[in-house]
Amino acid sequence: MKLAARVEQVPQSVTLAISAKAKAMKAEGLDVLNFSVGEPDFDTPQHIVAAAKKALDEGKTRYGPAAGEPKLRELIARSLTQEVGINYSAENIIVTNGGKHSLSELMMAIIEAGDEVIIPSPYWLSYPEMVKLADGTPVIVPTDAATEYKITPELLRQAITPKTKLFVLNSPSNPTGMVYTPDELKALAQVVVESGILVVSDEIYSQILYDGAQHLSIAATHPEVHKQTLISSGFAKSFAMTGWRLGYLAGDKTIIGAMTRIQSHSTSNVCTFAQYGAIAALEGPLDCVETMRQAFAERRKVMYELLNAIPGISCVKPYGAFYMYVNIGKIGLGSVDFCNALLEEKQMATVPGLAFGTDDHIRLSYATSLKNIETGLKRLEEFVEGRL
Ligand code: PLP
Repeated sequence: MKLAARVEQVPQSVTLAISAKAKAMKAEGLDVLNFSVGEPDFDTPQHIVAAAKKALDEGKTRYGPAAGEPKLRELIARSLTQEVGINYSAENIIVTNGGKHSLSELMMAIIEAGDEVIIPSPYWLSYPEMVKLADGTPVIVPTDAATEYKITPELLRQAITPKTKLFVLNSPSNPTGMVYTPDELKALAQVVVESGILVVSDEIYSQILYDGAQHLSIAATHPEVHKQTLISSGFAKSFAMTGWRLGYLAGDKTIIGAMTRIQSHSTSNVCTFAQYGAIAALEGPLDCVETMRQAFAERRKVMYELLNAIPGISCVKPYGAFYMYVNIGKIGLGSVDFCNALLEEKQMATVPGLAFGTDDHIRLSYATSLKNIETGLKRLEEFVEGRL
């Protein structure tokens, strides 16, 4: 059967084969340690679950407004107004089926054939595919450990052409865990304002930070840049709500209106009672977020120390999210072969850097127990030792 050209250009996920293999090995009874997960290993906090249950009991089971429950939009607007220091109102907010959906819907609303979208690599694996599905052209800008995998203003300026529509910024980053400093953001904002392009700031990990790192939205770093900035975020990572599918996009109300039209003809609205869980998350106590962050912080410390004690591989210290991006360039295997061999020989599942645009790296998630981290890193050490 002939499929649409738009889908033909989207490849099979490189991670799919490895995670399928890991699952099969586990089903056979093998002791597989999974370092490939992109979600917190905690349950959603009880008060959030209780609020959604209550909403169900109260009959919040019908269609709702396409852009989201008014109260939720208002709470998101209020919290962004406080955080960014710019006045957001409910009209500047759309509630979507996850941060992934807000980004893909944004692409559908603003990208046309021929438009270029600048994506620094390593990148979250869905960005280029979303751009392609919207008929746009991803322009990948490679970065490396020398700049902590961050795009510099010079690199951004060089990548901008008359066709550039959008620049995708992700801090804290998946897969590298890097966090842009206020000065770095300010310098990027200057380029964005001078060139008149739009920037989408993916801030889904903004509450998962370590060693005193502070989150700042690029929208807050220059008096003009907020007009060109769309903020994408969601509840999945900070509140352990990955399965709830709750995200949002904040910015220019014309763009929000366009996305709402798309949403009204595609998904209608985000699950109504789930949105009451998000309301509870924003209104409720935040100690649950801090408890999870502290657990990640401890695991990060242990994993970073163990990783950097292994000769032949290296990792830049991450300050956010829950990933370590490990350079395996000295081992002489491509990332897919490395991850496959590590899984087969040591029963350890990781994600090949090829998925994030850099084949000489692998990604390890520390959203797993300290015990698994200690055992897994021993396995990784033995695996690398045998190959040097
Ligand atoms: N952005 C980044 C950088 C991510 O890592 C993820 C999830 O892995 C998302 C967005 C999307 O999150 P969700 O759609 O679950 O809200």
